[in-house]
Amino acid sequence: MENKQNEINELQTEAPKQCLLSMSTEEIAEVLGDVPSYLAGQVFQFLHNGKLFDEMTSISKQLREKLNEKYIAQPLSVEKVFEGKGGAKKYLFRLIDNELIEGVYMLHDYGNTLCVSTQVGCRMGCVFCASGMNGLKRNLTAGEILGQVIAVNTLEGGNIKDRKVTNVVLMGSGEPLDNFDNTMKFLTLANQKGGICISERNISLSTSGLCDKIILLADSGHTPTLTISLHAPNDEIRDTMMPVNKKYSIHKVVDSARYYFKKTGRRVIFEYTLISGSNDTMECADELSKLVRGFPCHVNLIRLNQVKELGLKGTSSENSKAFLERLEQNNTSATIRKSLGNDIEGACGQLRRRYLNEDIEKIAKEGIIKSI
Ligand code: SAH
Ligand code: SF4
Repeated sequence: MENKQNEINELQTEAPKQCLLSMSTEEIAEVLGDVPSYLAGQVFQFLHNGKLFDEMTSISKQLREKLNEKYIAQPLSVEKVFEGKGGAKKYLFRLIDNELIEGVYMLHDYGNTLCVSTQVGCRMGCVFCASGMNGLKRNLTAGEILGQVIAVNTLEGGNIKDRKVTNVVLMGSGEPLDNFDNTMKFLTLANQKGGICISERNISLSTSGLCDKIILLADSGHTPTLTISLHAPNDEIRDTMMPVNKKYSIHKVVDSARYYFKKTGRRVIFEYTLISGSNDTMECADELSKLVRGFPCHVNLIRLNQVKELGLKGTSSENSKAFLERLEQNNTSATIRKSLGNDIEGACGQLRRRYLNEDIEKIAKEGIIKSI
């Protein structure tokens, strides 16, 4: 870890260097130049095993020096790790330009899931979300999205053969489809043979509903599980929660979900955060069932993660259950998401925000989370 920090500190005084973790084997081969072709594959493997250039012992010292001069291997370091209940961990990462992003590592029966960020901040401005509160700082590169997976897989004791991170959800800070090209490149790299090789079946992409980009995604040949943050059953309510709804109406969003299913054969998931007095009535449940009728999809009901500054109230667990039952009576496939990571500021953007406000040590002292 110290090595990685040194590499990052040195970089700040130098011209920005390109990161090799953003590259495919073919692109690495071009960087390496006139060397035996198998070396590109070896470097790709080393990178996906979390190694720095100096740790790539099977390549010559001369080549390592050449790489160190112009490129970086890993794009981020782990700033802090917080542990919550049930083995969930929150990772705070520091990028080369000192920006902070976050990821949550959760243990499930079907595998270990890492929730990663795709942007520093977000420009979508949803009223319930901490990530959007200060707008968008910048997009993450493909290497920075992948770097979160590689860092956690390595720190949890895994490698590319014996993976500790088996599932990835693009549900941390940022709107993945607002950073379309880097997100697509991430999907390609995460899948490439010889690397961490996480199948797109095990990757979920969550979007606030950028319809044009959903169509592009459907036509791209990539097939991650598409998760759409719906949060309302009609335009009237959605307009008050998600400014993006003014551009793409709720019917357009559901139509693009249908198109995604038609093209990929993959069931679409709708996320619906229950907010007291806003979208949690039985009429809303009926309207929601009607809206998503007629194609394979699933509604994930989410309890609101209270963001102090935003002043919204989550629905009670009795009402959440009643809402779920109503959906089930309407034959809408639905579950209430078990929300791991709440106790460690699991919701989007909250940890980074509190860390930047310097009160993370305070919540650690309150005993809610453990700083490790
Ligand atoms: N921008 C994408 C992905 C990141 S947000 C999107 O909006 O889908 C990931 C999920 O967290 C979304 O479903 C979002 O609606 C939800 N979310 C954000 N803030 C939340 C909060 N305070 N409580 C519960 N869920 C929240
Ligand atoms: Fe951005 Fe998603 Fe948060 Fe909305 S919920 S502000 S789209 S990160």
